[in-house]
Amino acid sequence: MPHRSVFDASELKTQFHDAGISHRFIPSIWKFAIQNPDRQLDEVPDLPSAAYPLLRSNFKPLTSTLHSVSHSTDGFTSKLLVKLQNGAFVEAVIMRYDTRLGKYGGKPRPGGLRSTLCISSQVGCKMGCKFCATGTMGFKNNLSSGEIVEQLVHASRLSNIRNVVFMGMGEPLNNYTALVEAIRIMIGSPFQLSPKKITVSTVGIIHAINKLHGDLPGLNLAVSLHAPVQDIRCQIMPSARAFPLEKLMDALQVYQKNSQQKIFIEYIMLDGVNDEEQHAHQLGKLLETLKVVVNLIPFNPIGSSSQFRTSSEHRVSEFQKILRGTYNIRTTVRKQMGQDISGACGQLVVNLSDKRSPENTSLLTDIEDIHL
Ligand code: SF4
Repeated sequence: MPHRSVFDASELKTQFHDAGISHRFIPSIWKFAIQNPDRQLDEVPDLPSAAYPLLRSNFKPLTSTLHSVSHSTDGFTSKLLVKLQNGAFVEAVIMRYDTRLGKYGGKPRPGGLRSTLCISSQVGCKMGCKFCATGTMGFKNNLSSGEIVEQLVHASRLSNIRNVVFMGMGEPLNNYTALVEAIRIMIGSPFQLSPKKITVSTVGIIHAINKLHGDLPGLNLAVSLHAPVQDIRCQIMPSARAFPLEKLMDALQVYQKNSQQKIFIEYIMLDGVNDEEQHAHQLGKLLETLKVVVNLIPFNPIGSSSQFRTSSEHRVSEFQKILRGTYNIRTTVRKQMGQDISGACGQLVVNLSDKRSPENTSLLTDIEDIHL
């Protein structure tokens, strides 16, 4: 049996419980693993003696390794290629922002450099969105909660991570149990991220949205809507057939009533598909009764084979004007980051035959959908 990640919380808790060891030791074990990822768990100080053989035989501080890191030339984006214990790869992306560059009340914003980590939750994805490279590679496997948390551990060694977004490879709500467990670890000791700093992005898995607020109150929810009507959604997102728009909107109403939080709506701008004036009005009407922030995402073509084209800047700006002006919906246009390392939305295609990689493997994975 391969060793489990020490961040696989339910497994660790079960084994501690069966061995009569208190759970209160777990945060200090995690703290040690974060600070000393290259040391053995036998070296964690002050544990009950029964904990040491249990940890040694069944758990590792990290089951994944940081295979390579690429930095964008502007230094704001770093792409991490993480190798899992089963040999599969996932990507995580660190995006750094200087809040002082923005304005608040006409003055520079307070703060400084902040980092957001975009995390993967699955290897591949079952959802098959047509504009997404991950969607074309099919589904390989779910990540365990430990493998999800380990991306944060790797990234934290490179940058002070303040925000986490589940917008990497995979549909997080399709790996619900591991997602919930991983987020509970992130908001607990020793990570102690605020739930407000964690965003889960979904294509709209209705039954999971219905449970999410009860399991993880305070979290940010982002919904990849990408179309204002069911038939366009089905054209570009086959999973929309299983989660009809009308039922999805009902679920969002209930979610908002319970959570009292605004919902982020992601909308990828595809030339001639969903970016016309009528679509902006349809979207405005659809969202009128919700408190939302719409994020318009200029599409990044994935290689030359993409069937979609990027909407012109003019179209994006007209679309934004309608949502803002006619429907009073806060609407932003996503800033593109890290394009020179294929780290921008829809671009993360990793080719391990590249010079930095010690192993010669064919085209692997990508993160298609970084929503910020
Ligand atoms: S856009 Fe997200 S949900 Fe759709 S195929 Fe890509 S990874 Fe899956």
